[in-house]
Amino acid sequence: MTGAASMPGRPRGGALSGQATPRAHCVLAPNPSPMTLDGTNTWIVAEPDSDRAVVIDPGPLDEGHLRQVLATAERLGKRVALTLLTHGHPDHAEGAARFAELSGTHVRALDPALRLGDEGLAAGDVVRTGGLELRVVPTPGHTADSLSFHLPAEAAVLTGDTVLGRGTTVVAHPDGRLGDYLDSLRRLRSLTADDGVSTVLPGHGPVLEDAQGVVDFYLAHRADRLSQVEHAVKQGFRTAPEVVAHVYADVDRSLWPAAELSVRAQLVYLRERGAA
Ligand SMILES: [Zn+2]
Repeated sequence: MTGAASMPGRPRGGALSGQATPRAHCVLAPNPSPMTLDGTNTWIVAEPDSDRAVVIDPGPLDEGHLRQVLATAERLGKRVALTLLTHGHPDHAEGAARFAELSGTHVRALDPALRLGDEGLAAGDVVRTGGLELRVVPTPGHTADSLSFHLPAEAAVLTGDTVLGRGTTVVAHPDGRLGDYLDSLRRLRSLTADDGVSTVLPGHGPVLEDAQGVVDFYLAHRADRLSQVEHAVKQGFRTAPEVVAHVYADVDRSLWPAAELSVRAQLVYLRERGAA
């Protein structure tokens, strides 16, 4: 939600709908806003020579969008075989049940309340569909149920809202926790360092190259904000709204409610470490 100007990842292209990589095709949902950037990225992921596809994050409950996703898969010569969710926020998951109905697929998610069918998703699971391999990476912090999906064949990772294509994300207190989020960023960083992941396919905003630079930027941004919040508390700003007005003065006011969630998460984090 801020810092876009100094973000290191090289955005690829402007319009998001379309083929992003040989295996990943984006259908942009018509729900743009300050929080969702251009809208939600619904991903159709498949092996190029397979007729079976996985859809990640059907998006909001928008009949036209859901039908567009199905039609796009069909145009690509694919049948949707499975639906996955990165997390339960409505802009990603609200349309999942209807999409499952339209496509005749199951929905797999970390949160049992979001699943349709017998199978969940857990850390370390490997999803295999039509030769495609997706490895489930737990990335809690934005929400408790946030997952990323590592696509080893393309050295790419689908990050949902954990890493966005522009700006930074919200730690959605009280469900999202800053300590978890920092651990998740470090987990993504080790994917870039140890597994050579270089491409970020985010839940909002453009595809980014230089995944490691982006994750380092996110880690540095979080450390900066945390020290600003800690400093504000030492100066006597006590409540979350007071801290927001002081620390997020450079951020558009439409984003202050979201910033307040992140500030609450930071205050909890500092308090648990005896620093606030
Ligand atoms: Zn979200």
